[in-house]
Amino acid sequence: MAGFPIKYATRIKTLPPYLFAAIDEMKQKAIARGVDIINLGIGDPDLPTPKLIIDALSRAAADPKNHQYPSYEGMLSFRKAVADWYRRRFNVTLDPVSEVLTLIGSKEGIGHIPLAFVDRGDVVLVPSPGYPVYPVATKFAGGKVHLMPLTKKTGFLPDLKAIPASVAKKAKLMFLNSPNNPTSVVMSKDFFREAVAFAQKHKIIICHDAAYSEVYYDGKRPASFLEVEGAKDVGIEFHSLSKTYNMTGWRIGFAVGNKQVLNGLLKIKSNLDSGCFQAIQEAGIAALNLDDSVTDGLRKAYQERRDVLVPGLKQLGLEVDAPPAAFYVWVKVPKGYKSASFTAHLLEKAGIVTTPGNGFGAPGEGYIRMTVCTTKERLAEAVERMKKAGW
Ligand SMILES: *Cc1c(COP(=O)(O)O)cnc(C)c1O
Repeated sequence: MAGFPIKYATRIKTLPPYLFAAIDEMKQKAIARGVDIINLGIGDPDLPTPKLIIDALSRAAADPKNHQYPSYEGMLSFRKAVADWYRRRFNVTLDPVSEVLTLIGSKEGIGHIPLAFVDRGDVVLVPSPGYPVYPVATKFAGGKVHLMPLTKKTGFLPDLKAIPASVAKKAKLMFLNSPNNPTSVVMSKDFFREAVAFAQKHKIIICHDAAYSEVYYDGKRPASFLEVEGAKDVGIEFHSLSKTYNMTGWRIGFAVGNKQVLNGLLKIKSNLDSGCFQAIQEAGIAALNLDDSVTDGLRKAYQERRDVLVPGLKQLGLEVDAPPAAFYVWVKVPKGYKSASFTAHLLEKAGIVTTPGNGFGAPGEGYIRMTVCTTKERLAEAVERMKKAGW
């Protein structure tokens, strides 16, 4: 039997072109040639999950009461641990019953939220360059993306005053992300206040992605969106255990804030997934209750790496700022290059994989993203190789 031509839905066919495909192909070819690749392209912690968390999972996995369907909204004990952590970390009070929702990784919540609030033709405000899930989830829900360009001129913050009134009128959601992927820029409480006022004025729900709130440097802790007055009236905050505790593979995160907004997300989730494995939530409780010394150690490791890579790049004459948080370094490409050509150059001449900035949206053109998810020694070698290659 020959079958019939399989046709994809429009929402699949209109996904943005996979900008990293060309890089992937070049990377595979280099590996085949025997090149010792230094991968500064991945945003995934290379260090292991702390042992206490793994032990908590092992214990909980052995308990038959955890083998059945979990609740949609998450275990109350996990949500209480989130509320306790929020109070300790941000001095923000949350009701664990109505203001905390367990997620199967924060990407899951970010990907689903437009389905709860966006009708066909509604606008979603999306920072760009940014996490690709924001625009894709918007389009999956039938919404229209309005990009908020993050440029050097505005300190890589969205310029809310530049959003036309006609767009603001049609907007239902606004995504924000601090500390930012890919720029690493941290939003101040003043910016959050401006965003709350904007949201109130135009009746827009704010979804703040705080996946990197615990990966910060020089002891300067980023603020939570919920620390500013009125934030809970207009939005929610997404968090992840992935980056904080080296748990990207475990799939656990949470959303906190406005109960009606969380309820909308829960309605979607309860029809699509059946909650997060309880043993992983037990491990999540162990993670959130860990002594700060554990996460301090992780931060110290990233900071040491940052302090190898960034001064090294500066010495080579590249334009780059030391990131205050997150594990990304946002590097301006030298004159005569574009994001794609500089990425290709580094791979060909130095065996270094980076990510072209325009892969995070057109306003990222002219930059590349490097990560510090590899050892100091490898980062030093990357700088050395760039020097030898004339970059
Ligand atoms: C890594 C990342 C996430 C998602 O992490 P999960 O593993 O799904 O919790 C969310 N937002 C940004 C900006 C990220 O970089």
